[in-house]
Amino acid sequence: MGRHGFVSFYLWFGVIGSIIIILTIFFSDNYFNQYFGNEIDQIFIVIGCLINIITNLLILNWYLSGFWISCVYTIGIQFFIPDYGFKFRDFIISLIVILIFYGVLNIKKNGISTWDYLTGKEERINRTCPFCANCIKKEAIVCQFCGRDVSYDIVSKIKVSDESK
Ligand SMILES: [Zn+2]
Repeated sequence: MGRHGFVSFYLWFGVIGSIIIILTIFFSDNYFNQYFGNEIDQIFIVIGCLINIITNLLILNWYLSGFWISCVYTIGIQFFIPDYGFKFRDFIISLIVILIFYGVLNIKKNGISTWDYLTGKEERINRTCPFCANCIKKEAIVCQFCGRDVSYDIVSKIKVSDESK
């Protein structure tokens, strides 16, 4: 499985950025000065960063659950911050953030997006060439990369499934 370089960059940028924000909050003078005044805000920023790290690492390891946790958190957080209340503008912004995230995951590499891998769509439409190990379409009878006849693969599978009936 492979993903477009920008998708990897986007996910790792989120992980490293979140770690830097958490470290900044815990170790900067700013944190100690403001801690008692903005305790709630700081805690929610740290929780948000931790969830961002977890969801990005899940997606980096091909778990679709990372995306859904990210959606639930991004939208749900607005209803749980004390004394903040629901703001329509922030709700729209959170939807745009999710749409951008979805768009990034759909950037394709060799015709297959990270989203296709996460949802299992890739397995339904592709297979590996037995000769050159490149990714080819399931219905292919000739490999587009090495040009060899791969119809045998399909025929043998059909024969096996016919015999088993
Ligand atoms: Zn091939």
